[in-house]
Amino acid sequence: MAVVAEEEEEEGGNRMPAEYHGDAVRIAIASGKGGTGKTTLATNLALTASRQGRSVAYLDCDVEEPNGHLFLKPEILQRTSVGNLIPEVDEEKCTHCGQCGEICQYSAIVCLGQKVLVYPELCHACGGCSLVCPTNAITEVPREIGVLETGHAGPIHFVHGLLNVGEAMSPPVIRAVKAATPAADLVLVDAPPGASCPVIESVRGSDYVVLVTEPTPFGLNDLKLAVEMVRVLELRFGVVINRADVGDDEVLRYCHQDGIRILAEIRDDRRIAEAYSRGEMICAALPDYRALFTRLLEALTETASAAADGRQPGRARCRPEREPPR
Ligand code: SF4
Ligand code: SF4
Repeated sequence: MAVVAEEEEEEGGNRMPAEYHGDAVRIAIASGKGGTGKTTLATNLALTASRQGRSVAYLDCDVEEPNGHLFLKPEILQRTSVGNLIPEVDEEKCTHCGQCGEICQYSAIVCLGQKVLVYPELCHACGGCSLVCPTNAITEVPREIGVLETGHAGPIHFVHGLLNVGEAMSPPVIRAVKAATPAADLVLVDAPPGASCPVIESVRGSDYVVLVTEPTPFGLNDLKLAVEMVRVLELRFGVVINRADVGDDEVLRYCHQDGIRILAEIRDDRRIAEAYSRGEMICAALPDYRALFTRLLEALTETASAAADGRQPGRARCRPEREPPR
């Protein structure tokens, strides 16, 4: 079984976080709240860039529920298993000392009397238990938690991960998706919704993060959480407001007060919902939206390229982007 990515294996299995390769400009599309139009934005930006003749890679890191393929309709050329290394206990060697259970921060291995129990779904594959075991009773064995699929949608390089049903640990699959980034000038990362570990894993290493929201109390609440996350990560970011003509003005007010750049406002258009329900790209189904995505892509590329130029490994390299003075 192929486990995660070959480069990671050489560096010590999935304990080494996979970073991007190459000098591509990396833009992540994220949202605190699900259902805001994140994938619509990411796929249409990919299509817009490819129509301009640019080399673009689309990475769907929403591995629990990837749906970019429904719109880009890629041809999948390669399928690879993604796994974790989990402990396996040799009962013959085990003295039931309990040290493995004491070191495990996730209660994934527990010593109960004369029995050591392993809970693979909880294991973070840190390797701590095998390191402390005094009798070398623990070996690490691979276990599949998902798959990685790569291919292309016309000229667009396509990568997505699929976490197996019932699995709780999506970051290793997300790392595998990022490690499989094809050579391209522009990398667009479709992140999962929320502001927790999978999102952080997805946006980490990006030159710019687009936060997609909607003008509702839920949208504002989750936007604030997402803003807090990207600020902690010191990533440059801006906001796209979807269905901007419904709801209230609180998202706008919050962005203006906090000096957050609003990159675009997309109105509530029934034709977009209809195209979405048919699995069609907005830029293909509704030509009058092409100019909006072209302008947005230009603005993003300009800002993200500047950040990419100043990329310094190991250093905080980005700051939240401020709304330009009006
Ligand atoms: S640390 Fe090793 S010897 Fe001790 S209980 Fe765990 S597996 Fe057994
Ligand atoms: S590898 Fe780490 S997370 Fe998994 S059981 Fe061992 S100590 Fe716990």
